[in-house]
Amino acid sequence: MKSNWISHFRHGDASMKELLGGKGANLAEMTKIGLPVPPGFTITTDACRSYYSLGRLPDSLMDDTRAALQAVELARGLRFGDASAPLLISVRSGSVHSMPGMMDTILNLGLNDETVQGLAAATGDESFAYDCYRRLIHMFGNVVFGIDSAEFETILDKARTGCGASTDQEMTTDSLRDLVEHYKQCVAEKADVPFPQDVYVQLQLAIEAVFRSWNNHRAQVYRKLHHIPDDWGTAANIQSMVFGNYGADSGTGVVFTRHPSTGARELFGEYLTNAQGEDVVAGTRTPQPIARLSEEMPHVYAQLTQAAKQLEHHYCDMQDIEFTVERGKLFILQTRSGKRTAQAAVAIAVSLVKEGLLSPQEALLRTDVAQLEHLLHPSIATDAAVDVVGSGLPASPGAASGHIVLDADEAERLSAAGERVILVRPETTPEDIHGVLAAEGVLTSRGGMTSHAAVVARSMGKPCVSGCDDVRIDLEQKRVYIGERVFSEGDLLSIDGSTGRVIAGAVPLDDADISPEFLQLLDWADRERELRVYVNADTPEDAMKARALGAEGLGLCRTEHMFMAMHRLQIVQDMILAETMEERQKSLAKLLPMQQSDFEGIFKAMDGLTVTIRLLDPPLHEFMPHLEELVVQHTELTAKNTGTPEDRQTLERLIRKVRKLHETNPMLGQRGCRLGILFPEIYEMQVEALFLAARQMLRKGVRVQPDIMVPLVGHAEELSVLRDLIERTAERVLGPDRRNCAYRIGTMIEVPRAALTADKIAEHADFFSFGTNDLTQMTLGYSRDDAEGKFLPYYVDRRLLANNPFQVLDTSGVGQLIELAVKRGLSSNPQLTTGICGEHGGERDSIYFCHETGLDYVSCSTYRIPLARIAAAQAKLLLGSRSNAQHSVSM
Ligand code: PEP
Ligand code: MG
Repeated sequence: MKSNWISHFRHGDASMKELLGGKGANLAEMTKIGLPVPPGFTITTDACRSYYSLGRLPDSLMDDTRAALQAVELARGLRFGDASAPLLISVRSGSVHSMPGMMDTILNLGLNDETVQGLAAATGDESFAYDCYRRLIHMFGNVVFGIDSAEFETILDKARTGCGASTDQEMTTDSLRDLVEHYKQCVAEKADVPFPQDVYVQLQLAIEAVFRSWNNHRAQVYRKLHHIPDDWGTAANIQSMVFGNYGADSGTGVVFTRHPSTGARELFGEYLTNAQGEDVVAGTRTPQPIARLSEEMPHVYAQLTQAAKQLEHHYCDMQDIEFTVERGKLFILQTRSGKRTAQAAVAIAVSLVKEGLLSPQEALLRTDVAQLEHLLHPSIATDAAVDVVGSGLPASPGAASGHIVLDADEAERLSAAGERVILVRPETTPEDIHGVLAAEGVLTSRGGMTSHAAVVARSMGKPCVSGCDDVRIDLEQKRVYIGERVFSEGDLLSIDGSTGRVIAGAVPLDDADISPEFLQLLDWADRERELRVYVNADTPEDAMKARALGAEGLGLCRTEHMFMAMHRLQIVQDMILAETMEERQKSLAKLLPMQQSDFEGIFKAMDGLTVTIRLLDPPLHEFMPHLEELVVQHTELTAKNTGTPEDRQTLERLIRKVRKLHETNPMLGQRGCRLGILFPEIYEMQVEALFLAARQMLRKGVRVQPDIMVPLVGHAEELSVLRDLIERTAERVLGPDRRNCAYRIGTMIEVPRAALTADKIAEHADFFSFGTNDLTQMTLGYSRDDAEGKFLPYYVDRRLLANNPFQVLDTSGVGQLIELAVKRGLSSNPQLTTGICGEHGGERDSIYFCHETGLDYVSCSTYRIPLARIAAAQAKLLLGSRSNAQHSVSM
């Protein structure tokens, strides 16, 4: 029978992810390639979307489900709801993109007061039957009726103590039977309805609850984080149960085909004997490492190893596999591409190429560039004295320090207020996701390497130490006991997710090394890409670091940062306060050697590469003290009648000047090249310092290539005047040496008018660098600081905007101006080089756009350079060579 809503595992395949969800599509694929998958079917994401649009399940869905279930009954030789030998099923969520643990699942569906006895009789194991029943009521109560899991856990604790058992497995049949009664009472009291005895009512409620779980809080947070659309919905997979809680020769586990933290080629995972699926991922019992399975059940281990290999070869990727062993027989319940750290992602991609499973190009395209920043995770400085107070599982690498926080909401609140926090929890649950996101790192006292938050922390690149037995948390007193030591919430703590160490206080951190595999991947990227990658850096140290990471030039040196340095600020203020040109020249003369030595350092660090130095950009009042502070000082001075009359006069003069410099909208005020035109002596000093530095370095054999960049040009005339000033200064400073110094003069394109009149501006420019921070502000009419602090998050939340345009380039708006400016600029100056130096230069989608638009380079912050190299290669592989792209640019 054909249904619009249902697809049997034997009919689907891996290509049907959109309809069947990732889990459903992979269950179908595994069935197809002959792996031992329990029979079942998928209710499609279409059905879920209909559920949301109708506000109820679509009309024929339950009839179709019943019909589909008959095929499963036939395959297993059991019937759903049969009082003598019932078929039990699971209902599992599964969306297009894997969202581990974010949505709900119900196991053991089909048990009621009658069928539990049938199960006991058919299996000859009453304890097992009641164990399944109590698990069903717990999960069902929690997922369908929203009863807090803790309610059931408290009853379970009491029941365990009551029969003298220390673990669930030791509980007697009688106590399990009693437990079921107590659980049913709990449901009746908390949900106001009895636990449903009709198995089809159970099934319908379970399907609805799984669909609803698409919209629970944690799933919403996860989707936002991973840019997964809200309207896709989840599938529901209905599958015959197999039992890992069938005794000592049964169990359940999760296995990765390679190590998810390091990428090493070895089976990595955990299992629990006599347990059901959710026990492993929920982190409530600390499981056994998978290697132990080779001793406990060698035959199963061999089969599992074989299945892992088959799946990895089939998907050409590292897999995360859920399995269950029922009385010595292996079943595979799920496979998906395994979440991994950035380090593992790179190691695995390179290894798959070497094993012949992928081409270098495929490996590059598979690389999640956003994750690559995590690769440059700091680690604890090797020579640091550390006070190790405990140790746990190294669940996600990297090191972090922060204030202890015991609650996810609090972590979010404090982090929003600018605090660095370490989230410390007894166990990791999916509800903690927003706390994990906000925290620098996560420490848990329980839970294994595959617990949810460990998985989530790894995918976010946050350090995590899990299952740290030394940690005891007193939530009421807000204390954490680690070994012999006591910490309070707010105390500083550090974790080392690479070794599992927990350390008192904050620790000094070192930058990460680049692995040989990462270098290999970057090398493949460099062979593909056409965009050059430059760095935005203001100091020789940053420039050097950037070179080591592959920077091919310096695309933006913001000279104002040099002015802000502590011992210089006073001189800069004196320069601004100067009443006469003579006074101003005095201050500038003091600044000149300082600037010169800054530039010498940078030229030396970038020996042989282009160095783009931007002349002063921000409004002058940014260098002055705040008016409010000065007024307070003045009031105090007057009230207390302290200080000399000269002190007071100086302060009053300062206040007058600051008032004079005040602008209503400084972003659009007296800044950028407008400063250079009004105060040419400032730019002249900077240019002189630059050429003196260039000459000095040239004499020492350094190959100097300065690009002098004028900010915020809107009219060709502005650039023309300043070009003149720069050239005259070059002549004056360099004289005949001028021939040896191949400098160029260009401008930033940050004002929409500059883009529109790019052909005129390009007549005076050797290069354009798109300052997309300002260009975005001015094109959208958003002041960045105001927008990000006020309406922008709301716009993005409500999907009025797909992204924050200050992070991801607004290609359809700002992008048009860039395309236009490139085209018009090249039309009047075919030698013009073009690049981008706004934040977008280090963001994947924006880099794709830059490639397509035919820019020569992107410039980004130091730690984004490797990411930009890979994204530039991806752009070429995905979009083709940009010689074609140039033709598609429209005027
Ligand atoms: C820009 O506007 O994009 C830019 C790089 O300049 P700044 O961020 O310094 O204004
Ligand atoms: Mg700018």
